[in-house]
Amino acid sequence: METYSKEMIEEAKDKIKLLIDIVHNLEDVFKGRHFTLDGHLVGSIGEVMAVYYYGISLYEASAPVHDGKSPDGREVQIKITQADSILIGDSPDYLIAFHMDRETGDIEEIYNGPGAVPFTKAYHYQKHNNRYMRVSMLCKEDKKVVESERIPMLHKIKKYQINLQKARNINKKTTITGYINKNQQKNLGIIGNKGTLKGQRLYKMCCMNCGFEYEANGCDIWLRRCPSCQNK
Ligand SMILES: [Zn+2]
Repeated sequence: METYSKEMIEEAKDKIKLLIDIVHNLEDVFKGRHFTLDGHLVGSIGEVMAVYYYGISLYEASAPVHDGKSPDGREVQIKITQADSILIGDSPDYLIAFHMDRETGDIEEIYNGPGAVPFTKAYHYQKHNNRYMRVSMLCKEDKKVVESERIPMLHKIKKYQINLQKARNINKKTTITGYINKNQQKNLGIIGNKGTLKGQRLYKMCCMNCGFEYEANGCDIWLRRCPSCQNK
């Protein structure tokens, strides 16, 4: 079993903070462009953390469904997100999901338990064979996991506490970028084009359940439902 030392993990955390600084620098210079850390880079951070905190033995990078095995032989899918949802691929035996803070790089455990429940409750995304699950829902599911169904920790990792109030309504104003309405529809910001109603502007909206993006009049943001997954 390959293990990583505390020093190696501390170094990784320092490097992550550097990366976040670089992202901020680039975004300062190139206004309006996003240099989001994602893809393999963030996925590998999650895997490295899983080795350290739970003693997971990682499979080959291309292995399907599961990313590794726990010391007691349970197969685990490892996920990490900086956003409001995670993507679950296939139905894993066990799921460990981390949250990485966009500003601080802090990594915390969102979920540790059987994979079947989150997978069945996640939303199917039309285009891919992947499912999205809201971090808030995953936090709720985590509370139901019995201790024997958790992958034991080798090192203590903090549990991610979702701040719903903060996530939902820093500002009550629905036209503020980042506002999330009661249907979990997020305002991604003004597009600038005239809306379909007189005097209205169009905003880009994103469904936090399935990731679908669409446009809405400013006055409709508070009540919009996802045209893809809530259109019933
Ligand atoms: Zn949706």
